Amino acid sequence: MALVRAADVITVEDLRIANMTKSPAPKPDPDQAGVFLSNGSAAKAGLNKNILDAGWGVFLAILTNKAESAGREVISVNPRDTSRTCPTCGHVSGENRKTQADFVCVVCGHAANADVVAASNILRAGLVLRDARAA
Ligand SMILES: [Zn+2]
Repeated sequence: MALVRAADVITVEDLRIANMTKSPAPKPDPDQAGVFLSNGSAAKAGLNKNILDAGWGVFLAILTNKAESAGREVISVNPRDTSRTCPTCGHVSGENRKTQADFVCVVCGHAANADVVAASNILRAGLVLRDARAA
């Protein structure tokens, strides 16, 4: 895997895929045998489908496996605020996200692709975690 060969350390968002895709338990109707009450699974099914379509969990499992075989490190970081934090001045605000694709810091004016901003924040957070482990 080229990604694993190219990098000593790989940082990823910890999205808790297992928790997010777990189906709600069926809720039997106490008054009617064989009948189940709404447990919110229809709404949840839409969310599950989106996550599974993205294939993130499968990708992470393969990535982690390959990285460990190659002696590389995979570090999961808390995804909170990674897409809302300015990598230049550190200001955190939802207003920094002008659109899904564009990041413009409302304090310092730093402008970049929103995915690039999130990736740089994830990398920085991962390196901080790695330094903390090493210390
Ligand atoms: Zn800024």
